[in-house]
Amino acid sequence: MALTLDNIEQLFGDAGTRLYGGEAVSQREHGLQAAWLAEQAGADDALVVACLLHDLGHMLFEQADDALAAGSDDLHQYRILPFLRGLLPDAVVEPIGLHVEAKRYLCLSEPGYHAALSPASQLSLQLQGGPMQATEAARFEQNPYAKAAIALRRHDDAAKVPGLSTPDFAYFLPRLAALAGAQA
Ligand code: FE
Repeated sequence: MALTLDNIEQLFGDAGTRLYGGEAVSQREHGLQAAWLAEQAGADDALVVACLLHDLGHMLFEQADDALAAGSDDLHQYRILPFLRGLLPDAVVEPIGLHVEAKRYLCLSEPGYHAALSPASQLSLQLQGGPMQATEAARFEQNPYAKAAIALRRHDDAAKVPGLSTPDFAYFLPRLAALAGAQA
């Protein structure tokens, strides 16, 4: 069931050209920017690759943008997980699965975070359950991947800059392949 590296590269080439729902960058640009920002912030390889692939669910399930417009949550952060688990280690996969929860967590815990989100991200938040409640946040903090998910989320939020120059997919592929190889 797992995707292959070729599958992922193809998704970045094809579906990656679609606009990232409600934002001024494409899916591919968004993933590349998130990975590039993570690298520049000194993130380890697993987090860089998690940033690169965090919205692969949007690329794989084409109805994502339409779902948002129609007022339903596409659950892209969960639907992609079965396709990644056999390929990549938990250090990559788990933060991807938690990146929406991290947004919900930061909306509760960090003053000003919600107001700084893009309009599209504020809209999707409402479909994703809104800001966490305190008990939910306390449980989230116990997750061993919560910190990585929050770091991913910050790069995700920043990776919406029209025209920002980044390395291309091939630049990140060796790290992706190494992590996939380590998992095999
Ligand atoms: Fe994203």
